[in-house]
Amino acid sequence: MSQTRSIVLAGALLLGLGVLAWQKAWIDPVRHFKAPDEPRGDTVLFVVLDTVRADHSSVCGYERPTTPTLQRLAGKEGWSTACRAYAPGSWTLPSHASYFTGLEVPEHGAHSLAAGGEDLGQNTSEQVRPLGSESQTLAEHFAAQGYETVSVSGNPVVSAASGLTRGFDEVRAPGRFGSWYGADFRQQLQHALEAGTSKDKPLFLFLNIADAHVPWAPVPEGLDWVPARPGLDWGQGTLWADFLGGRMAPAERSDLLAHLGDVYDYGVHRADGTLDEALVLLQEWNRLGPGSRIVITSDHGEYLGEDGLLDHGHYLGEPNNQVFLMSNQGGPLPEPISALAAYGLVRDGALPEPLPKVRAAAFPHAQRSEWTEGKWFTRTSAAEWHSEEKVLWSDEEGWAKGPVGDLSASAPDPDLAEYVNAVRSSGIPRGDVDADLFDALKAAGYMDD
Ligand SMILES: [Zn+2]
Repeated sequence: MSQTRSIVLAGALLLGLGVLAWQKAWIDPVRHFKAPDEPRGDTVLFVVLDTVRADHSSVCGYERPTTPTLQRLAGKEGWSTACRAYAPGSWTLPSHASYFTGLEVPEHGAHSLAAGGEDLGQNTSEQVRPLGSESQTLAEHFAAQGYETVSVSGNPVVSAASGLTRGFDEVRAPGRFGSWYGADFRQQLQHALEAGTSKDKPLFLFLNIADAHVPWAPVPEGLDWVPARPGLDWGQGTLWADFLGGRMAPAERSDLLAHLGDVYDYGVHRADGTLDEALVLLQEWNRLGPGSRIVITSDHGEYLGEDGLLDHGHYLGEPNNQVFLMSNQGGPLPEPISALAAYGLVRDGALPEPLPKVRAAAFPHAQRSEWTEGKWFTRTSAAEWHSEEKVLWSDEEGWAKGPVGDLSASAPDPDLAEYVNAVRSSGIPRGDVDADLFDALKAAGYMDD
């Protein structure tokens, strides 16, 4: 190649790069005006990876490489991870209401109710109570401190109808599960950043990443740790009801559980990947810098056949409630710990004092009880975890105590008795059932006709 031709080519290349750079600035005026010029360290980021069990997360030692992003974060200086963290509620609404207010489930009362009066075992219809306006939420706290407050959720429950988004300036949530997973979630986060009003304000950002929640995406070919599988959803035939109702042959049951385990693990992996994409986007927008406060947890787990159960929301076994809690501030996290400690970590960058007790509550579900001819979904229950043992109460089976996984009937536990009374009262409808929330949950796929 002649020297002249090389110079011409080099010149053309430089001109091309210049045009590209100019186009980028021109195409992306939103970011130019709304992203800070330098990385801001005052962002507070609270992430819930919905439906992620601690024991199916590689950051907590699971043999499948489901959570490489969490592992990378956990290995960074200043980060602490608790793998014996317990969600305070049994499904999205009660746990998020606790995380946003710092209150235990019977204190805020946002959950499904045992309808039908005082007799909690005889409920006849499902009702749901949204988060009331009595207590300040994290978003209201940060808004009062001058933060821009943004919520982007792949889970439709984190929306206005549930009361969970009170205090957020910008709220993004889909109408149904499965709409905003993976790249779609990233795009929604980008839209939320573009909608920001000022690059001079600090940001409080809440993300609910729901890729591990049903409907589970198909597992593609080519992964060396999980076989390719079709996707799976609640609405597919009567799989769930047949399994729970004991109307499934043993071979069919084990096939379903193997399938479920694979698509669930792939869902956890996708949730972790979506988190990574969100972190990259926030870095590009200069919204993560040294000093940024980051807290990550889950709102509940998922039964994958243990104890004959599937799904989440109504039983307080380890598959339903044991999650992880991670933070880059607040020092070492003790275990067991209530994931409700996330409230203090997010608000103050420190563990709350005193630490919340490691407790959870769950309530019945009338429609699902009908599915299983009253076998499941009929009880109100409460649990408390200590370092060596667990205490469990339900209105059907009374009190039990012992090492996790080996409980036996026991006398009432005086420490938990007050909480149990509060849970029982909280399960009684007060005439304030919210039809809008019920309709929204039904549209999202949460309720069954
Ligand atoms: Zn959830």
